[in-house]
Amino acid sequence: MAANIDDIIQSVRAYNPTSNSELIRAAYEMARKAHGEQKRDSGEPYINHPLAVAEILASMQIDDTTIIAGLLHDVVEDTSVSREEIEEKFGHQTLVLVDGVTKLNKLEFRTRHEAQAENLRKMFMAMSSDIRIILIKLADRLHNMRTISSHRSPLRQKEIAEETLSIYAPLAHRLGIFKIKSELEDLSIQVLEPERIADIKLSLAAEKEERDSFINEQIARIRSALAEAGVKAEVNGRIKNYYSIFNKMRRQQKELSEIFDLNAIRIIVNTVRECYESLGIIHTLWKPIPGRFKDYIAMPKQNMYQSIHTTLIADNGMPFEVQIRTWDMHRIAEYGIAAHWRYKEGKSADADFDKKVEWLRQMLEWQQEVGDSREFMETVKHDLFNDYIYVFSPKGDVYELPSGSVPLDFAYRVHTQVGHQTVGAKVNHRLVPLDTELQNGDIVEILTAKGRGPSRDWLNLCKTQQAKNRIRQWFRKEKRDENIVIGREMFDRECKKVGLDPAQMLREPPLMEIAKRFTCLTPEDLLAAIGEGTVRADTVAAKLRDEYRKEEPTQVEVRPGNKRTTSEGIVVDGVEDAMVRLAACCKPLPGEPVIGYVTRGRGISVHRRDCPNALRYQETEPERMIGVSWGEVREGVFQVEMEAVCMDRERLLMDIMAVMAETKTPVNGVHVSVDKRTKISTVYLKLEVKSQDQLDYLIQRVSRVRDVLEVRRVVHRRRDKKDKKEGK
Ligand code: MN
Repeated sequence: MAANIDDIIQSVRAYNPTSNSELIRAAYEMARKAHGEQKRDSGEPYINHPLAVAEILASMQIDDTTIIAGLLHDVVEDTSVSREEIEEKFGHQTLVLVDGVTKLNKLEFRTRHEAQAENLRKMFMAMSSDIRIILIKLADRLHNMRTISSHRSPLRQKEIAEETLSIYAPLAHRLGIFKIKSELEDLSIQVLEPERIADIKLSLAAEKEERDSFINEQIARIRSALAEAGVKAEVNGRIKNYYSIFNKMRRQQKELSEIFDLNAIRIIVNTVRECYESLGIIHTLWKPIPGRFKDYIAMPKQNMYQSIHTTLIADNGMPFEVQIRTWDMHRIAEYGIAAHWRYKEGKSADADFDKKVEWLRQMLEWQQEVGDSREFMETVKHDLFNDYIYVFSPKGDVYELPSGSVPLDFAYRVHTQVGHQTVGAKVNHRLVPLDTELQNGDIVEILTAKGRGPSRDWLNLCKTQQAKNRIRQWFRKEKRDENIVIGREMFDRECKKVGLDPAQMLREPPLMEIAKRFTCLTPEDLLAAIGEGTVRADTVAAKLRDEYRKEEPTQVEVRPGNKRTTSEGIVVDGVEDAMVRLAACCKPLPGEPVIGYVTRGRGISVHRRDCPNALRYQETEPERMIGVSWGEVREGVFQVEMEAVCMDRERLLMDIMAVMAETKTPVNGVHVSVDKRTKISTVYLKLEVKSQDQLDYLIQRVSRVRDVLEVRRVVHRRRDKKDKKEGK
């Protein structure tokens, strides 16, 4: 039956006594007049659609502004009502929401990957102005899905259903709006898999009576036990949605009769304390299945969901699930983010809430920094849509893993040593191959043997970066001796380049200090790190040289004559008032070893000593090289470019950006590229720093971010064309 405005106003008043009913009615009148004779595909008056959207929004107990915008969400696009009119009558906020939805309506999520990425990006932008825009959009999509059968083209129906399942349902899930998520899923899957769903419905109906009486029996026992203990609770039963059943059957290749969490009983109480009290009580009534206990109260899901889940064995041997939560948790479980706009008129006094939507904010910030929409999506998409699974140790400890994880991921999560020594795995007490994909609720047991080590192809089996890194580390250690030899060669070479005796360096204390700075315990560790490529030999040599300079100031050459420092802070050997500029390719920083190149008619360009271009000039035009050094250290701001090579993972960029935020380093550009095949991502940053020390420090900090393999300063290698230009 079509919604009507009086019912909506009444239901809003019921949860929000301060609601402005007249304004809601005015919005309705505006929409009704504006849509006039317009009809929907089903032939009913168009106004029924915005009414239904408002009704859905009211069921989320949302504020007036959102309800009003829901009523008006299609008028700007489809009718002659102007934006100014909306703003004048209903205020600026309402217009922002209506505008946002109108913009979103123009997006079409095709299966083509690019367009989808771009559209998702716009969706995030809409969210950034106000998340309520997405709530209206979800309500809009929900009503369109409810009425999808009146759509003329069956092909189009499937397209819409697919899009709903791949974009809108996960979005609702991520925002924690379970009620909308599960209805969207059910409506979509019915369009996409009509036969299978009909089968499921039929089988469910066949056993309905039996199942109902079973569940009612358990409910009755819970009710009386809780009442006896003085716990005030609402106890009821609920059935899994069709989509979850369908998915579970397909993924686990099970028959309907094999799925034992079809039914769940829900206990809703007033306080967290009562949650645990209730848990204790029901665990005395029935035996819980070990390992199926999940405490999302102590450990809320990312989408804010909180509840205790436990599965019990009834007297007849049938397992059934019980969920326990408070009323607050219940509201959040049903309405997620929407629960925070409950008639509070936008004021977000809830400090916790800010934390909860932190991921969203972060994403939006990146999106502003990363210009390219596709790369943005590469980084963000799996963050939003990748689900987590929860698996259990035989003792019942809960582990959260990304979906798609295999027993090896679990093993490494438990302990590095357990991972290394894995020889086999049991899932739900059955031996399985190590590449078996784990499912929610699996009980995983790892079989180990002392003295065993990982195998290289595990790198391809594992899903988590954590496991992969541990495996790599193991191989790195194995290759330590080899790395020390290689590292020693590189170290020798670089020391000689800066005029130091490598053998002497290895004997004397400054190297120890430098080793520590790279978190190496001994000079040998440092050589291994150099050989392995995590520490650069030239950096170590440069630091050693600085140390020795500090210690032996008499050895520093004092140049007679010229002491004049140019505006760039450079002193040129034997030349006064030289025209000097800092080379754009390597952008030397004060304190870095530098060398000058006398250009033809454009003064002296100052390069870093290790700049590949400078090295090449030294070979090809040694006569043009000139000694330069830094004059008095002066304060300034220098643009530098940094590149971090990393194992791609979720939140990588966020962790790196956190270093910049913490050190208050201005970031002028970010660029991320991911090699899908190797899963190596390169994060490229344009930064402003004040000195070489600050840059060194930043490089060190970023290299300590998890999964960062290498951090380096970017030097642009000149192409021949540019060489000529510099030469002229
Ligand atoms: Mn609409």
